[in-house]
Amino acid sequence: MTQFDRSRLASLHAEEQRRFVSSHPKSRALFERAKGSLLQGVPMHWMAKWAGGFPLFVAEGQGAHFTDVDGHRYLDLCLGDTGAMTGHAPAATVAAVQRQAERGFTFMLPDEDHLWVAEELTRRFGLAAWQFAMTATDANRFAIRLARMLTGKSKILVYNWCYHGSVDETFATLTNGAVGPRPGNVGPPVDPALTTRVVEFNDLAGLEAALAHGDVACVLAEPAMTNIGIIHPDSGYHDGLRALTREYGTLLIIDETHTICAGPGGYTVAHGLDPDLLTIGKPIGGGVPCAVYGFSAEVVRQLEGRIALADCDTGGIGGTLAGNALALAAMRGTLEQVLTAESYTRTIPLAERFQTGVEGVIGEFRLPWIVKRLGCRAEYWFRPTAPRNGSEAAAAVDVELDRFMHLFALNRGILLTPFHNMALIAPATTEADIDRHTSVFRESVQALLG
Ligand code: PMP
Repeated sequence: MTQFDRSRLASLHAEEQRRFVSSHPKSRALFERAKGSLLQGVPMHWMAKWAGGFPLFVAEGQGAHFTDVDGHRYLDLCLGDTGAMTGHAPAATVAAVQRQAERGFTFMLPDEDHLWVAEELTRRFGLAAWQFAMTATDANRFAIRLARMLTGKSKILVYNWCYHGSVDETFATLTNGAVGPRPGNVGPPVDPALTTRVVEFNDLAGLEAALAHGDVACVLAEPAMTNIGIIHPDSGYHDGLRALTREYGTLLIIDETHTICAGPGGYTVAHGLDPDLLTIGKPIGGGVPCAVYGFSAEVVRQLEGRIALADCDTGGIGGTLAGNALALAAMRGTLEQVLTAESYTRTIPLAERFQTGVEGVIGEFRLPWIVKRLGCRAEYWFRPTAPRNGSEAAAAVDVELDRFMHLFALNRGILLTPFHNMALIAPATTEADIDRHTSVFRESVQALLG
């Protein structure tokens, strides 16, 4: 991104920063107070990175909107980075949680909801059997462990610049073809090159070369990358991935945590994929913490008799709160009545409207930018063509511009997903909401161009 005068960008940003600080005195006061009890004044250290210098403190959310403690109302296009893709406080999930809350939160025992949810997941995704976890991170960790046990192989394979939660093995990137720790990797337990092979997305030859070492237990893949921006697979890529993983005795784990935006059965069903394991967390409980991982019939068969009853409670797969009654009630309520096939018939056309609107502005001002969309998720890129892999995508990241666009939108009542320019659409989002974003986006471009 070079056609904007950087000093103009910096002064516009400073102006937005002043506006943010002066219009959020209560959030600012809470942030100051938080410094006395929270590390860096934030509940999670990455929250210090929000544009504006301190995070908004939330008062309450409903549907596609929330209000902050200063009384500002926001259109939420971040939606908890997919955790609240159903919208905030969806009525059916709230009712299910309220019902369950009076009956007990957690038992370390099953109830009928576990069966209902597993049956529904099988109906949606086609996999034969399911297990529960608290987070998508944990679902991925457990799926990886099982893959290593089943194959007797030690490594996993991920895509360069992937993100699958805080899973140690996945914090690896390629530099000049060599695997090393991803920048910012905090306290890695071992050199990730010992645990992980990394290839570029959409590179079947590179994938084959990596698998040919014969030591890869599983590929952990988002079916379309979403965390370094949306990157679609080339046509035929998934057929190649599936064929090669089978050829080299490597299990294929598809992580649908974000790509559930593609439809009720995620990208897997929308595009006829055939994974050995599938993981998903975040929105399936309407924002209540929960996650699941599923197994193909063949993996179920292979797992038979492999986990010794004597040690299965301390084998590295567990979580006292995993599969708790409250989370299950939330999942049942959400899957039954909120994250339904019907909800996508609302949200996907709205994401298309978002794309068309932003593309219209890009065209009007002849910017070398594009919009990418996957289901009800859309995002603009500061480059003229779609990146094919993580390296190309990472090279297009423009932190200054990202932060400015975020803050500009925030100051006008719109929350985008932080650290990229992603918008997710909830069933409660309206056409007027989308058009408002388009006009704020246009305003920000006009400001930049001067
Ligand atoms: N998988 C993917 C694809 C993700 O994007 C994320 C989080 N952004 C996770 C897993 C981990 O989810 P959580 O942080 O809820 O464990």
